Amino acid sequence: MIEVCDLHKRHGNFDVLRGVNLTVKRGEVAAIIGPSGSGKSTFLRCLNGLESFHQGQVSIQELTFGAETPLPIRARILRQVCQRVGMVFQSFNLFPHRSVLQNVTEGPIFVLGLARDLAEERARKLLDQVGLADKIHAMPRQLSGGQQQRVAIARALAMQPAAMLFDEPTSALDPRMTGEVLAVMTDLARNGLTMIVVTHAMRFARQASQTIHVFGEGRIIESGTPEQIFEAPRLEATRLLLNEAQAA
Ligand code: ADP
Ligand code: MG
Repeated sequence: MIEVCDLHKRHGNFDVLRGVNLTVKRGEVAAIIGPSGSGKSTFLRCLNGLESFHQGQVSIQELTFGAETPLPIRARILRQVCQRVGMVFQSFNLFPHRSVLQNVTEGPIFVLGLARDLAEERARKLLDQVGLADKIHAMPRQLSGGQQQRVAIARALAMQPAAMLFDEPTSALDPRMTGEVLAVMTDLARNGLTMIVVTHAMRFARQASQTIHVFGEGRIIESGTPEQIFEAPRLEATRLLLNEAQAA
């Protein structure tokens, strides 16, 4: 479903990504863990075209783009990639002046050209699925962080993406709200959605993912099943990371 080959990215003369390779199968949940500043967000943003990169290639289903792809062609491919890959950010990023329902229907109506009544029907189902059926007419500022993040997930799902990228979706939330959001994400994982999740929520990574990738200084330094990573990490860096997360 997703294949990343030798991804490199620089900011000035600082190498943020230094050759990332990753394959994610259809229906797989891949968790990414790693210290702050190791390039996790940059990596996710390269996958859906929010950032460009200097070397390497990304394939998402049959859409392939690389550092060498000429700009007009890349722009056309990236428009399709954006529709196929949903993204959820740490800071929710809802449209503040739109109701919950409008946040979820906007993309399907204006980007996909779906009729309003069909978009609303789809939105109501998704909001019900994330436990917010009673909030459809609320404005984002009237919701808790956990509720806003669940709207953001529903909004991304409304585009019927082939895969979803999550960048620390619970880092801004207190433990109870974190639990609400992780429960929704665990449901999605069980239903076979292909997901890449950057997270510090180790219990979630362990229980919901099939593969864990450990980032360090712009590379994936270790990959394995949750059992391998948690029970028998190969690297000292991984061991330290897991200890820190446990202490937090
Ligand atoms: P992570 O998500 O793992 O915390 P990021 O991808 O956000 O890491 O950032 C990786 C590194 O790239 C950090 O050292 C950060 O300071 C640097 N970086 C990110 N964006 C920029 C930018 N626009 N200009 C310069 N440096 C950047
Ligand atoms: Mg980050």
